[in-house]
Amino acid sequence: MAAHDDDDPFEEQRERVDDAILRLFREYGLSHRFEYGVALAASVFARLLDLLPTIMLGVAIDAILLGTTGFSLFLVPDAWLPTSPDGQFALSATIIAGAFVFGTAFHWLRNWGWNASAQHITHDVRVDTYERMQRLGLEFFSDKQTGELMSILSNDVNQLERFLNDGLNSASRLLVMMFGVAGVLLYLNWQLALVALLPAPLIAGFTYAFIRIIRPKYKTMRATVGALNSRLENNLGGIQVIKSSNTERYEDDRVDDASYEYYDANWDAIWTRIKFFPTLQLISGLGFVFTFVVGGYWVFVGPPGPLYGTLTIGTFVVFITLSQQIIWPMAQFGQIINMYQRADASSARIFGLMDETGMLEQDVDAPDLAIEEGRVEYDDVTFGYDEEPIVEDIDFVVEPGDTCALVGPTGAGKSTVLKLLLRMYDVDEGAIRIDGQDLREVSLRSVRQSIGYVSQDTFLFYGTVRENIAYGTFTADDEEIVEAAKAAEAHEFITDLPAGYETMVGERGVKLSGGQRQRISIARAILKDPDVLVLDEATSDVDTETEMLIQRSLDELTEERTTFAIAHRLSTIKDAETILVLEDGRIVERGRHEKLLENGGLYAHLWGVQAGEIDELPEEFIERAARRTARTEAGDD
Ligand code: ADP
Repeated sequence: MAAHDDDDPFEEQRERVDDAILRLFREYGLSHRFEYGVALAASVFARLLDLLPTIMLGVAIDAILLGTTGFSLFLVPDAWLPTSPDGQFALSATIIAGAFVFGTAFHWLRNWGWNASAQHITHDVRVDTYERMQRLGLEFFSDKQTGELMSILSNDVNQLERFLNDGLNSASRLLVMMFGVAGVLLYLNWQLALVALLPAPLIAGFTYAFIRIIRPKYKTMRATVGALNSRLENNLGGIQVIKSSNTERYEDDRVDDASYEYYDANWDAIWTRIKFFPTLQLISGLGFVFTFVVGGYWVFVGPPGPLYGTLTIGTFVVFITLSQQIIWPMAQFGQIINMYQRADASSARIFGLMDETGMLEQDVDAPDLAIEEGRVEYDDVTFGYDEEPIVEDIDFVVEPGDTCALVGPTGAGKSTVLKLLLRMYDVDEGAIRIDGQDLREVSLRSVRQSIGYVSQDTFLFYGTVRENIAYGTFTADDEEIVEAAKAAEAHEFITDLPAGYETMVGERGVKLSGGQRQRISIARAILKDPDVLVLDEATSDVDTETEMLIQRSLDELTEERTTFAIAHRLSTIKDAETILVLEDGRIVERGRHEKLLENGGLYAHLWGVQAGEIDELPEEFIERAARRTARTEAGDD
């Protein structure tokens, strides 16, 4: 697992998307034009106002304090300006104060604009991605891990947020500062400006090189932290096994190893980083000293070397101050590029996922499934999760109201056959029809609505017992919910819970036993009142007593409905109208209980073992099972 954390599980999706950032702005940014307009304009004004006090300081030094030049302001006719030093000083102070006040307002607006647009866009992207993701076929989910999918919804969306907020903010600052400061300096004294700006491209290049060097280090770091987290998660999940196998020491070592790898990778990155910033400071410091020496010499002695003209003290001070202000935005150049590249990769993954065609083909105008009787027909069905067929030539009919039981060893394909009925997957060959309607030609929603499904592991959502029973039948009233719970033999244990039907269950709530969860799931199915019922090992998780209770409720539930049941305990399905015995994805025997017993095949033997009539299955079945298990395990790797 550790090894593949480094690979991008969504590489395929990512590669399908071109110009992801452009697409992000086109699809999500355009509707926030207003915020972007405000943010951009406010950024420009705020940054330019930031420069104003320094410029005024230069003017004040020369014209008021030293009186070496006349008092004049860029773009303002001299006739409008006060002539007395007092008036000039007051005007300068007012301009500086105004720059701070308006600057603050524009900074506030700028922050609002970038943050608001970033938050809105990431919210929209997150919701859309989830919406698309949950509609993808189960194939998609079966070969992705939950953590990987979560990483798109959290990490990738966060990368976008970082870029849209911090990235664009820094980029706008960089641009305004670069052009603003460079413009002011060039306007004041172009020769000294070239000297002062000398380190800027150097710094930009240097930070870009730094990002290139550190990026692979960060990548390794992420991989090792992923490995460490998997190890910790795994160990905490398996704490019972660790304790019962006395392997605490062994696990200490493994955690130590994983943690050390992370430490190592992290330190490597830190080492590069802590060398970078002092170097940067050194470059900008040298630049500063150089400007100081050239400018200072110029002020006191005269233009050095090939330079000519005069340099006033005020201009010199402006140079010294502003050239420092351009360095830091420059140093962020590499970071901005980095944020952009990450956001680009993240949006490509997100859009790749949104473009995923793994969704089941569905005609938008498909009619709803109309069940009159509930006759289910599998017509020569073949299906495999990958290339290889898992179930083959599945051909049978279940008459309305009948029960069809699927039995056979683990891995034979029983669950797979029933998932096809729920259209979790589409068949590769053949067809499944309910009352003559091909499942692929009716709306998916109506198929799922018509079929009740009680699975072997029931997932409870974090919420009350009542909400979990009513899940999917949200309109049910209290009375109906209690009725359903009673029919599922769940009412009694529910009323014993701390808050009865209002008890919180699921991930963070009260833990229910497997049997209790299953009865809630049965109550859910009863409430839904479906035409066709699928019971996937519905009574596998409970003690014999509870099983009898559940069986009683199920008998009632299944009486009038076409029912499919998978059960290991053959006693629960011996009254089924049709029993299909599956082995290796094929139907090897079929018929009623008595007939199958007479046949003396796999079913008869399974029955014999379960009824205690024979001690074990004949050799040939055991050998076949062993071969199959070996195959399945090899396939799982
Ligand atoms: P049963 O219900 O009889 O135990 P299943 O239908 O669950 O059998 O499984 C049949 C075979 O299909 C097994 O070999 C299993 O490993 C494989 N299988 C089940 N689900 C998936 C899946 N989502 N992706 C790939 N293979 C699967």
